[in-house]
Amino acid sequence: MRPDRSSDPHISSLTAKKRPAVRYVIAVLVSFCMLLIGFVTWDAWHSRQQRLADTATVTANMALALATQGEGTIRVVDSVLAGVVERIEHDGMVGTDRERLRLHLRNMVSSVEELHGLFVYGADGSWVVTSLEQPIRGNNSDREYFRYHRVNKDRSVHVGLPVRSRSSGVWILPVSRRLDNPDGSFAGVVLGTIRVDYFSSIYERFDTGASGTIVLMHDQGRLIYRHPFDEKLVDNDVTKGTIYALYKRSPTAGTAMIRSYIDGVERLYSYRHFDGFPLIVATAQAKDEILAKWWQSTSILAAALLVVLALLCGGAWRLVRQIMIRDRLEQELVSARAVLQQDNRELAHLADNDVLTGIANRRRFEHLLQVEKSRAGRSGKPLSLVMVDVDYFKKYNDTYGHVAGDECLRQVAAALRDSLGRPTDLAARYGGEEFAILLPDTDPRGARNVAEHLRIAVMRAAIPHAANPPGVVTISAGVCTMRFATGDDTDPTLLVERADALLYRAKQSGRNRVRSDEDEDSSDTGMDRDRDKKNAQPGSAARHA
Ligand code: GH3
Ligand code: MG
Ligand code: MG
Repeated sequence: MRPDRSSDPHISSLTAKKRPAVRYVIAVLVSFCMLLIGFVTWDAWHSRQQRLADTATVTANMALALATQGEGTIRVVDSVLAGVVERIEHDGMVGTDRERLRLHLRNMVSSVEELHGLFVYGADGSWVVTSLEQPIRGNNSDREYFRYHRVNKDRSVHVGLPVRSRSSGVWILPVSRRLDNPDGSFAGVVLGTIRVDYFSSIYERFDTGASGTIVLMHDQGRLIYRHPFDEKLVDNDVTKGTIYALYKRSPTAGTAMIRSYIDGVERLYSYRHFDGFPLIVATAQAKDEILAKWWQSTSILAAALLVVLALLCGGAWRLVRQIMIRDRLEQELVSARAVLQQDNRELAHLADNDVLTGIANRRRFEHLLQVEKSRAGRSGKPLSLVMVDVDYFKKYNDTYGHVAGDECLRQVAAALRDSLGRPTDLAARYGGEEFAILLPDTDPRGARNVAEHLRIAVMRAAIPHAANPPGVVTISAGVCTMRFATGDDTDPTLLVERADALLYRAKQSGRNRVRSDEDEDSSDTGMDRDRDKKNAQPGSAARHA
């Protein structure tokens, strides 16, 4: 029967030894891949943050530049206003030469690019002098800047909320100063207007990308200008917007990623409050545009990483497969070796043992006979042999059949084997129903006792044998003992022949008995002597014990 591989401790220990190799390869691969992915991810994230930070610097600088430019625009307009205020207050509203003032205002408007118009209103809001071609009658007392100056004694410049011009109909940013009478009472307002689209001519020169924007708003939460310019957005309430909320938290400047509530585009915004004026400018670049190049390089990097990972995994898989194949081959080898060893053991057993009875076979007996003969020669101790033959066994077969005969032989063999006392004693099946019992270091008396003991043991086994007079299976035995000298070349089969001859005599004298050399010595017959003479080899060192 083939041995069960899984239960073979040698095989399972080998499997256990090999598994860590595969586990080690997988662990190294996974660690390396994770390290690689981790490093690339970290690098990509870092360069993304760097890109955003660089853009934040650019937008913040742009916001600063736009705020500075805007402050300059307001200051230019204010310096004109301050001149007009000084002139009117010096001459007095009544004493002022209106025509000359009108020319002056027209001059100013045409020479100062930022200015759209200049207006002087009286204390009741009526138009006193304007830079317009044709004098228009009107009243601006309802305007926010007018109401502001009427109640505020503040003499500094005021930047109002964007309004649609009554003279030209375009959106303008009002910049104004208060006019005082000599007694300090309210005399009117001098107004300079800046076209809202003036800012677009400035802002369009800045590159904010395809989806970038620039926003100018009043810090009271009104939109003045948004690039790209859309008139509909002017004066819109922006107090709900994120930039305005940010400005409320950090009034000077700030930067943040914001999704526009106007067009839904996510942008990186930087805003800055004008120094000294209630205006805020914000500039922004679309996040997608900022990160477009980053996405491109990261995609290439990710693709390269995937290729490297695939190559690594492929290589590792080949390695693992090689290890597994080697592992399996080694297991098969070990298993085959175990099977071979088992087969060899079985063969050796078959070569040395009788298949039917399980005791030593004739081949082994003859081998051990030689060995024991040599040993006896060296030790000088006697070597005895008992030849056993089952009585009337032919009749047994005839009576009970061959299968029962086989079983009978097994029982006789077991009885013989179990009756032997020394480990060096050997019971062998010599052939058919004959057995040979080899008894090293046993003298004639001892051998006879053993033979007698065997005979009784077989009788006691009480195997029914109707055709045998005792009614049970019995054996006859011939016992012979010899001594050998060192280097004795006597053929030890002589011992077999003698024991066989004595067995024959036992049969002759009635069966179920033992005949030994000693018996021969006491009741020698002429025929026996002749036999002994014939068996003794001339010049042999062996001698009858
Ligand atoms: P004796 O008392 O003179 O020994 O009579 P015997 O019948 O035993 O002697 P003989 O040698 O004539 O018969 C031996 C028989 O043993 C012949 C053979 O049929 C039988 N025999 C030999 N080997 C086997 C075996 O392996 N199995 C069985 N069942 N019978 C066997
Ligand atoms: Mg026989
Ligand atoms: Mg017989």
